[in-house]
Amino acid sequence: MFGRAPKRSNNTKYYEILGVPRTASPDELKKAYKKAAIKNHPDKGGDPEKFKELSQAYEVLSDPEKREVYDQYGEDALKEGMGGGADVHDPFDIFESFFGGGGIFGGGRSSRGRRQRRGEDVVHTLKVSLEDLYNGTSKKLSLSRNILCVKCKGKGSKSGASGICYGCQGSGMKTTTRHIGLGMVQQMQHVCPECRGSGEMISERDKCPQCKGNKVMQEKKVLEVHVEKGMQHGQKIEFKGQADEAPDTITGDIVFVLQAKEHPKFKRKNDDLYIDHTLSLTEALCGFQFALTHLDGRQLLIKSNPGEIVKPGQYKAINDEGMPQHQRPFIKGRLYIHFDVVFPDSGTVHLDQCRALEAILPPKPSIHLSAMELDECEETTMHDVNIEEEMRRKQYQQRQQAAYDEDDEEPSMPRVQCAQQ
Ligand SMILES: [Zn+2]
Ligand SMILES: [Zn+2]
Repeated sequence: MFGRAPKRSNNTKYYEILGVPRTASPDELKKAYKKAAIKNHPDKGGDPEKFKELSQAYEVLSDPEKREVYDQYGEDALKEGMGGGADVHDPFDIFESFFGGGGIFGGGRSSRGRRQRRGEDVVHTLKVSLEDLYNGTSKKLSLSRNILCVKCKGKGSKSGASGICYGCQGSGMKTTTRHIGLGMVQQMQHVCPECRGSGEMISERDKCPQCKGNKVMQEKKVLEVHVEKGMQHGQKIEFKGQADEAPDTITGDIVFVLQAKEHPKFKRKNDDLYIDHTLSLTEALCGFQFALTHLDGRQLLIKSNPGEIVKPGQYKAINDEGMPQHQRPFIKGRLYIHFDVVFPDSGTVHLDQCRALEAILPPKPSIHLSAMELDECEETTMHDVNIEEEMRRKQYQQRQQAAYDEDDEEPSMPRVQCAQQ
């Protein structure tokens, strides 16, 4: 490019570019390159030439063989050896080998011509039952997606050629200028309607007959999603590179996000399961047994120990009957049973039965009232209440009162007088 002035082959420039001494270790080189490359990356407004220089320098010095040639004979020797130009690698490729394809500047890479964009991920939710998560399952899902046209391999044309769009001169964007009066103009940028932002145009005659120049076609695809034992609500199952294909684009992923449906009986917390079970008072006092159908259809016999009394609100646990751990399904959590005890309705126990019960149950607390003390007490009567109903009624009354008080502040309202009558 530049006139080949007779110059002595320079063998220090690359070190200067990276700002390291000639004795720098591979690690020091790496660090220096990383720091400078981030600072000078064109996506961050850096100078592309400088960025290229950095990559070139690093490419040579990070390769022991090339470094040796460079140290001994200088830049020109390398250029000869590499077929006339040191610029063989894309500087962005070198950069990305450090930071991964996604870039470090928050994903969306600038659309620099031939640089490949990353296509979007397609995210679906997949509803699964607790049984599915306990036993594992696979679900076949039929999806339609875009793939590169098989006939033209995504070129869109029969010849494989494409011309530059006349509408936008290949930029994909169009600027329109609007006069908004007083000599002022407003400029607006929008996607070129002729090429829909691609910047290219395929002549009518050359269009691929299969995709009509669209480069992509629809494909029906059946995906088999393996829901593994012990997977969690919200867990992702990914199909790498299976999303919509598009020209010059790295295909994104199809992602299924598991959504666990509520189970009528079991609740899950991590690897543990919880159920509620209601006992009658007799069962709570005298023992019980019942069969529980587990998530895999097994019948578990759950029974109390002889002589054991279960209290309302008590929890008991059964080991290894919780959820299987994901990827270690032989290890299972616990099954917790939360007991409720229902008492019999009033009137079911006769007086003589009460005496029999009193004989068995722990004695009543002996607070004995003397005849004199009884004499001094006033008689009361308890009656049943529906406490929720009571609370609602009281709240309603309070609201009424508040509304009434507000009205009261208006002196013109005649209702005040009415209330006093
Ligand atoms: Zn265009
Ligand atoms: Zn085609």
